[in-house]
Amino acid sequence: MSDSQRDPIPCRVALHDASVEEIRKLRASRPFPPDDRGDVYRQAPAGLTRGTPVCLFSFRRFFPIIFWKGWRRLGMGVCEGGIRVEGIETCEHCGVPTYITREHIWHPCGFIVQRRDPRHILIFFESENLDFLLREVEGILGIPIQRIVIDTRRRAAKAYMDRVIPEALKEQVRSGILGVGPVVQGMVGIGHVLGYGRFEVLEPRQDSDDQDRLLVRVHRPYSILLGCADPVAAFEALVGKEMGLSYQETGPQTYDIRAFPSHHPEEFKGRLTMRKYAYPEGDIRLESCSRCGAPLLLGDYRWLLDEGLIQHRETGRRMVFFAPSVLEAIFDELEREVGEDITRAVVEAQRRLTAEGLHSIRGENPEEELRAMLALRGFGGLRELTWGPDGVILAMENACLPQVVAGLTQGLYESAEGVGSRVDWQTGEGGSLRVEVTAG
Ligand SMILES: [Zn+2]
Repeated sequence: MSDSQRDPIPCRVALHDASVEEIRKLRASRPFPPDDRGDVYRQAPAGLTRGTPVCLFSFRRFFPIIFWKGWRRLGMGVCEGGIRVEGIETCEHCGVPTYITREHIWHPCGFIVQRRDPRHILIFFESENLDFLLREVEGILGIPIQRIVIDTRRRAAKAYMDRVIPEALKEQVRSGILGVGPVVQGMVGIGHVLGYGRFEVLEPRQDSDDQDRLLVRVHRPYSILLGCADPVAAFEALVGKEMGLSYQETGPQTYDIRAFPSHHPEEFKGRLTMRKYAYPEGDIRLESCSRCGAPLLLGDYRWLLDEGLIQHRETGRRMVFFAPSVLEAIFDELEREVGEDITRAVVEAQRRLTAEGLHSIRGENPEEELRAMLALRGFGGLRELTWGPDGVILAMENACLPQVVAGLTQGLYESAEGVGSRVDWQTGEGGSLRVEVTAG
């Protein structure tokens, strides 16, 4: 039976503060029972047909449950007591949310591939890297890059949201049948599984007088520069209008993000070039969980879904799933704006981060260790590693973010050998990469 047949439609749309148990009971009885709770339930708008996206939400708790064709794949669920995402199941064995394993493949080529669109890949990355990397790049270039970073992220996220949000859902929001706030909350709620921090939509407003506004509070964002654009992009895609955005620190690791009516500067209206990845079949096999199929190494991390955090169980190091195509687009935009090759700056920034102890290779077999480390993070397929006191040669069959891998290799070498070094790298056909680190 398909999802759309299982979910009775038309149905009740809004559940005011119903408990998880109540929602479960409601969902078990088909069709939904008569409206016997006074103002507790609101009648579904007329004209909903099977497969129409519907948003169920609890007003008081302010967390939506988005139902549409395939909604289970988005992993949205009911919520109880704040922002606990109850509908997101985790594997009993390894603790990884099933959303992660259902939506992604740790491909034998060393990439993390989206099942729905295999040309899109993700990296699983130390999140401190993102802001530090951008800040270091800014320091090395000596010019402010915030505007370019935020705008590139917003445009990339908007293009993605435009594609994944069903037209019918946009229509319901634009016609006022559905409140935009809960739907935006549902969109950014997916980020809780990806490690983006806790997002709460505080003030949505959607009118026909061009005064649409949004206020979102985020606690412990994975990167404020990249993260502030996510809810605004979702809002823009839903209301179909251009928005300006600003953010302000309002507490410890807490920011208020505002979207307001504004036209985008002409200079940023060009098409973003988002790389589509091609890759070989590959033969990297990461040991996987017998229950859910996730790489066993992911069991080293815990998901704090209430907080939107993914942390290493021992070191507490925070991780995030992120699209490398967005970082590559940012690097391209920076290059266009700054008018010089920023690759060197990215390599140097990553070298510094790694050498400061972000990663290290400790085991007897550095090649195996590095191969697994790169493949778990989705950086690509390590073919060869020659490691000696005088330097390192690393060859990959396919690599995303080659500048980052080059800086990582150099940093690993420097922290292991305690010496300075030079690095050279070359990319070749099919995304291949060769990095040479030499002592001195
Ligand atoms: Zn598992």
